[in-house]
Amino acid sequence: MKLFKGNIIYTKNKESFEIMENGFILEENGHVQDIGLDLVEKYPETEVVDYSGHLLIPGFVDLHFHAVQYGNLGIGLDEELLDWLNTYTFKEEEKFSDLPYAESIFKEAIKDIIQSGTTRIVFFSSIHEGATRLLIDLCEKHNLSAYVGKVNMDRNASEGLIESPKASYEITKRLVEETEQAIITPRFVPSCTKDLMTSLGELAQKGYPVQTHISETENEIEWVKSLHPEAKNYLDVYDQCGLVTDRTILAHCVFCTDDEKEVIKYRGAYVAHCPAANFNLTSGIMNVKDYINKGIKVGLGTDVGAGNTPSIRNIIVESIKMSKVNQMMHRDKDVLSFSEAFYLATKGGGSYFGNVGSFEVGYEFDLLVIKPDDLSLSRGINCLEQLQRFVYAGHNDMIIESYCQGKKLKAY
Ligand SMILES: [Zn+2]
Repeated sequence: MKLFKGNIIYTKNKESFEIMENGFILEENGHVQDIGLDLVEKYPETEVVDYSGHLLIPGFVDLHFHAVQYGNLGIGLDEELLDWLNTYTFKEEEKFSDLPYAESIFKEAIKDIIQSGTTRIVFFSSIHEGATRLLIDLCEKHNLSAYVGKVNMDRNASEGLIESPKASYEITKRLVEETEQAIITPRFVPSCTKDLMTSLGELAQKGYPVQTHISETENEIEWVKSLHPEAKNYLDVYDQCGLVTDRTILAHCVFCTDDEKEVIKYRGAYVAHCPAANFNLTSGIMNVKDYINKGIKVGLGTDVGAGNTPSIRNIIVESIKMSKVNQMMHRDKDVLSFSEAFYLATKGGGSYFGNVGSFEVGYEFDLLVIKPDDLSLSRGINCLEQLQRFVYAGHNDMIIESYCQGKKLKAY
């Protein structure tokens, strides 16, 4: 049991920040047991971890990251999605049958992810079982809480990445049954036959987590239409296979129709909003406010390697920028506020992991300790302004410590 002292700032709801200067959080067994100003009196004899003058915020949550593309970070981002996949992505992913190579990339990715303040993450691995298990082990070793998906593909990929539907399903089944971190990961409709998706959907119906892509670009949507004229829309292909549940993460959702949004909400699925990737691949403007206003569960994703940063802090900024572009194009639309974007980056995405992303009593203790920069301190700006400055203009060195479930994350 420990008391953490500092300037506490977090979002219980998306509309506003909870701010407590010189406050205390009582941590016990990896959970928040209490929060307040008078906890030293209430819990005498308890060890105090003193971060006075620092911001204490919840850890960041990244709902969409391709670990196997970290070596490609920043490369080829002037391409459109389908060309980019063929030119860069698939060639790189083939290399992950080689475990020493996989380990060299994963270690760099995990180091940078932790240094960026992410404490929870949902990974795409490659089709390879070995690399997927290795990534799960590495995350555990570094105290990074992660779901890791072995990718399923049995059509429309490079030759080295095409699996038989039976083998693809069986590896995924084995992984989800044997490890809590595994997640069912059909890449996207064009990569998976209906036979494969139906068998994966049967697994999903048992309650195992699922992640996939949907409606990232208009060309992709046209392709899905031509592959599945029997479906009402893109989401319907997944839904017919049983893949859309309240444990499903749908990355992108740039062009989802109102009908699709209704089903996403009804099923309780999550949307991973990945604005950096959408800008880079000129995919489109995702109207995130519409999803939020409809009561759909939304979190943020870096989508490395289509995204050019492993930092959710940067994605908070990108999400607000994308919302402003949307407003510039359609004057009647409202804009994502700073508190809303911060909420998506913490409690919004965090709820996929349970009670995560807030300092309410009972929540898991995921904490970032932020040292404000010298100008913030000399100018005497308030806690919220310090947070804004960190998010918009800060750097990773300002994160001096991070905890996940009460344990320190290890970058090395
Ligand atoms: Zn992706």
